Amino acid sequence: MRERFHLHYIDGRWTPSASGETLPVINPADGTTVARIPAGAPEDADRAAEAAARAFPAWSALKVEERVRFMSRLRDELTARRELIADLEVDELGSPADYALRKHCDYQISRIDAYVEGALTLARDDRNGLEGRTEGAYVWREPMGVVAAVTPWNYPLGQIIQKIIPALLMGNTVVLKPSTLAPLTAAVLIDAAEAAGFPAGVLNLVQGRGSALGERLTRHPLVDMVSFTGSTEVGRAIARAAAEAPKKTALELGGKSPAIWLPSAPAYTGAVLKLFESIFLNAGQTCTALSRVLVPRSRLNEAHAAMKLGLERFPVGHPLTPGVKVGPLCGERQYEKVKGYIELGLQEGAELLAGKVPESFDAARGCFVEPTIFTNVRPDMRIAQEEIFGPVLCVIPYDTVDEAVEIANGTPYGLSSAVFGPDEEALAVARRIRAGNVFINNAPRDVSAPFGGYKQSGIGRESGVEGLLEFTQTKSVFHRW
Ligand code: NAP
Ligand code: MG
Repeated sequence: MRERFHLHYIDGRWTPSASGETLPVINPADGTTVARIPAGAPEDADRAAEAAARAFPAWSALKVEERVRFMSRLRDELTARRELIADLEVDELGSPADYALRKHCDYQISRIDAYVEGALTLARDDRNGLEGRTEGAYVWREPMGVVAAVTPWNYPLGQIIQKIIPALLMGNTVVLKPSTLAPLTAAVLIDAAEAAGFPAGVLNLVQGRGSALGERLTRHPLVDMVSFTGSTEVGRAIARAAAEAPKKTALELGGKSPAIWLPSAPAYTGAVLKLFESIFLNAGQTCTALSRVLVPRSRLNEAHAAMKLGLERFPVGHPLTPGVKVGPLCGERQYEKVKGYIELGLQEGAELLAGKVPESFDAARGCFVEPTIFTNVRPDMRIAQEEIFGPVLCVIPYDTVDEAVEIANGTPYGLSSAVFGPDEEALAVARRIRAGNVFINNAPRDVSAPFGGYKQSGIGRESGVEGLLEFTQTKSVFHRW
């Protein structure tokens, strides 16, 4: 497999880039080069879009049950490659080894089963499903056509699965453009799809910079829909480019998600572990990370003590060292960005409860930043408003629950959130939060429920039946029966 990393996969063939150039993939723990990928040229994007368009008629004509069979084989082939996937996420992302296997691999593969179940549910539902009807019409939900999937580096395989599995199940064909920072598991997924026997052109991979490929794919006349996960800034650029056709876009963007600790919660110790897992695992590079915790001012000292104790369970270090929970950030750019925000927080007058300003960047020393907690943060500070995308938590004191809700809703984002306190009260607060996800009292995510953002956190949904329908359009067929 490793000998294919420098190739695209277009029309069922592993093929070099028209550019003849490659880009290095860097290990953020020590600055070494893990592999090289093609520096894709715009013509590569064209070839992939053409292949996907040619494959569309036959793939979209299959029954859902037939596409489900391909998906089940893909799931098995991916499972057979789980050790390789985990190893690659250690190397390209700096993910601690056990997290790489559990979260970057096994958990993501489990999403395939949820999508398959959702697709079969839609196939069986003769009212609102793929072949639904009203009193006077059939309502068919049909594929969009060719979908371009543009994905980021923070959960490399997961974010790809979230797009290509529902897109393919619903009968679309796909051109995938992963992030240049963590592109290798995309190639493993393609290898698995090839072994699963997917027809040529149904799933294509182009590697390289977003500026060269993403832009070309977005504007390509044969591309019917762009599904993007990444920064709000690039999301805006994609939406603008897509608007010219216009064509459909689905956007999963950034967040600044709040956890509200209610005054009526008997103790906060039980909330710390989940909060820290959210903001410190994956080195804080999680779009749904709970990066703000809202604490009653009268209980601030108690909250500080609970957090200080909790930090012991999140040691930083090399991803291959047993017991390490926090590895390096994904690369130099991310390191500089996070370092800049920690400096900014101090300038803005927030106090460091844990962590320190990271040292100057040194590739060989690695992109390590220790879990950092700012307290006495004011909601209008930039560290409380902007997405940092690193292991940096802001503790914001509040006086009343109304004020907590206002602070929670007081950023341009609305991706995730959490409420900790007595169930009834927590659910009442959940209704007032403007975000696509709310976790009540440490509940885990259910991958068959829809996922997505309010406000500037995105447009559209992934996961669940809604995540499947995102890749369809409806046709009403009027017929006297
Ligand atoms: P990014 O810079 O926005 O890049 C995302 C993808 O878009 C990459 O593949 C990138 O290619 C490509 N791209 C860059 N410029 C483009 C353009 N002009 N046209 C089309 N594609 C272009 O994001 P990132 O730095 O990889 O990821 C971090 C961000 O993603 C964070 O803000 C995070 O919140 C967000 N995120 C959101 C979710 C969610 O589900 N809501 C999930 C994960 C991450 P390159 O490789 O060349 O950069
Ligand atoms: Mg980028």
